[in-house]
Amino acid sequence: AYDLDEEDVAVLAGGAANRPAAPPVLAVVGRPNVGKSTLVNRIVGRRVAVVQDVPGVTRDRVGYPASWAGRDFTLVDTGGWEIDVAGIDASVARQAEAAVQAADAVVLVVDANVGITDADADIVKLLRRSKRPVVLAANKVDSPIQESDAAVLWGLGLGEPYPISALHGRGTGDLLDAVLAALPERSAVADALPEGPRRVALLGRPNVGKSSLLNRLAGSERVVVDPTAGTTRDPVDEAIELDGQTWIFVDTAGIRRRVHQTKGADFYASLRTRGALGKAELALVLIDASEPLTEQDIRVMQQAIDAGRALVVVCNKWDLVDEHRRRELDREMDRDLVQVQWAERVNLSAATGWHTNRLTRAMDTALDSWEARVPTGKLNAFLGELAAAHPHPVRSGRQPRILFATQASTRPPRFVLFASGFIEAGYRRFVENKIRETFGFAGTPIEISVRVRE
Ligand code: GDP
Ligand code: GDP
Repeated sequence: AYDLDEEDVAVLAGGAANRPAAPPVLAVVGRPNVGKSTLVNRIVGRRVAVVQDVPGVTRDRVGYPASWAGRDFTLVDTGGWEIDVAGIDASVARQAEAAVQAADAVVLVVDANVGITDADADIVKLLRRSKRPVVLAANKVDSPIQESDAAVLWGLGLGEPYPISALHGRGTGDLLDAVLAALPERSAVADALPEGPRRVALLGRPNVGKSSLLNRLAGSERVVVDPTAGTTRDPVDEAIELDGQTWIFVDTAGIRRRVHQTKGADFYASLRTRGALGKAELALVLIDASEPLTEQDIRVMQQAIDAGRALVVVCNKWDLVDEHRRRELDREMDRDLVQVQWAERVNLSAATGWHTNRLTRAMDTALDSWEARVPTGKLNAFLGELAAAHPHPVRSGRQPRILFATQASTRPPRFVLFASGFIEAGYRRFVENKIRETFGFAGTPIEISVRVRE
C-alpha cells in the first residue's frame, strides 16, 4: 500500500490544473531601429543571441523567459532581423502581425526623437484590429529634457506614451508595471481552448500542399492575394464541414496568403505555427512525401508535440510517390521521426483528392486518445504485472519500484508515477511504450512524470 501525503494529494487533486500554466506572452513590435532589441535585452537582462536563419540551424525557442515584480512572462522579440529595403513596409507589417498573433499583449516601440512615421501608423492599425492590449513605449528619451518629444505620440491614439531609454534603463520600470497590468495571469493564446467544434492547426513548411489541402477540404478554390502594406488581414479561422462534423481550421490567413521568402521568414513561420497551435486541439502536419524529409518538417512536428497537441501526420503528394520512394520515406521516418511513431498517419493527395476522406477518422482517433483516461485501478494492475515481468534493473544494490500510479490529466494524457527510487530514463521509456501498447493513445503525446519517495 502507498500512503499519499499532502503534497502527493495536491499533485493529483486538480488534474490538468496541475500543469504549470503557460506564462503570458508579450510581443515587442515596431519598425526597424527604434530600439526593440535593446529593450528586449534590458528586460531579459542579458544579451540575447540572434540565431541566424540558416538552413540546418535549429531554432527551438522564439521566446525568452522574463520576469518583473515576481511575475513570469515570455518575451517575443521581433528585432534583429534585416529587412529588405524594397519591401520594408510589407515586411514590418508582416513581422508585427505574426508576433501579435502569438501574444497576449504588445509593447509598441516608437522612436520619440523621430516622431510618428507612416510605418508606425500602419502598425497601429494592425494592432487595433488584433484587439490585443497595447502599451506604448516612447524610446530614446535619454534625459528629462526630451520628455516633451514623447508627448507627440499621444497622436497615435494608443493612450499614454511611456517615455523610456532602453539604452540606459530610464523609465523601463514604469513601462513594465503598465505591461504587467495589461497581461493576463495565464496565457490566453497558449491555454484557452474554447468548447464546441474541434480546432485544427494545419501546419507544414512552404509548398507541402497546405493551401491545396485546405481548398480541397473547403470544396472551393479561392483566390490567394499577395500581401502589401496596409492590406494585411486578421488571422482567419475557417469552419469546414467534413462527414457531417464541423471542424475549425485556425489561422488559415497565413496559409491562404503567399508569404515572400525573406530573411527571417522561417522565424515568423515558427511564430505563426506556435500561435496556431495555441488555439488548436489537433495539429495536422503535412509533409511532401515525394521529397526527402527536412529539418523544418521535423521542427514543426516537435513544436506540435511540445505544445501537447493531438497529431496527425499527412504524407501529401502521394500521387508522385512510387514504390522506391515509398520505401525510402519509411526509412526516413523510422530514422528521423522516432519521436512521433505514435502519430496517426494518412497518405493522400491534395491534388487528386485521393484518400482525403481518410482524414476525419485519423483526426477523431487522435483526439479520442488525447482525451482518454485510464482508470487508476486498471493502471496499477497493469503496472504491477509489468514490474513483475520486467523489474527495474538493480542499481547499487537497490531496486527502485513503482509504488503507485495515476493519470493526473487528459488533453494530453499525463501520468504520475510514485516510486521508491530514481527511475532511469530507459525504464521510463519502456513504461511509456508499454502504456501505449496496452491502452492505445494513438495520435497523442503522453507525459510521464515520476515522484520519488525515499
Ligand atoms: P531594433 O531594430 O528596433 O531592434 O533597434 P535596436 O535595438 O537594434 O536599436 C537601434 C539603434 O538605436 C541602436 O544603435 C541602439 O543603440 C539605439 N538605441 C536603442 N535604444 C536607445 C535609447 O534608448 N537611446 C538611444 N540614444 N539610442 C538607443
Ligand atoms: P503550401 O505552401 O503548403 O500551401 O503548398 P501549396 O498548396 O501551395 O502547394 C505547393 C505546390 O504543390 C503547388 O504547386 C501544388 O499544386 C502542389 N501540390 C499540392 N498538393 C499536391 C499533391 O497532392 N500532388 C501533387 N502532385 N502536387 C501537389
